[in-house]
Amino acid sequence: MKKLEFMVIHCTATREGQEISADLIRQWHTAKPPKGHGWRKVGYTDMIHLGGELENLTPFDQDDEVDGYEITNGVRGINSISRHVVYVGGLDASGRNAKDTRTEQQIATLTTYVKYMVMRHPGIKIAGHNQFAAKDCPSFDVPTFLRSINIAEENIHC
Ligand SMILES: [Zn+2]
Repeated sequence: MKKLEFMVIHCTATREGQEISADLIRQWHTAKPPKGHGWRKVGYTDMIHLGGELENLTPFDQDDEVDGYEITNGVRGINSISRHVVYVGGLDASGRNAKDTRTEQQIATLTTYVKYMVMRHPGIKIAGHNQFAAKDCPSFDVPTFLRSINIAEENIHC
């Protein structure tokens, strides 16, 4: 069992304004190809819907260790030391271009979520998926966002 080191923020890479369900995400990640990726586990712990509602996809406890049942497949190579959270959106209306589509309510929930994580896990570093892989996800600059909500530098992964 390893220590929780990162909280990584993702987007679902779906069109602006389009709601999607946790079941669909789970199917994309765990169904056998070609329906899904065929992963053993879904990629996220929690999901933030368009209206700001928080939905849990993978159970977890509040300690500083990442138990086997808590692991999610969000970023290859760091999953055993990470928690992954996703907001619904991340693409413009055409579905072709990355765009920060977070609604006011999603930003509010994400802000609370990040602050709670830092409170529960003082040594945690918060990051965007794009800081670990050549991807647009989550379609916004996470360090800039974190500074805008007054997260301490020691909790910002750079
Ligand atoms: Zn991602």
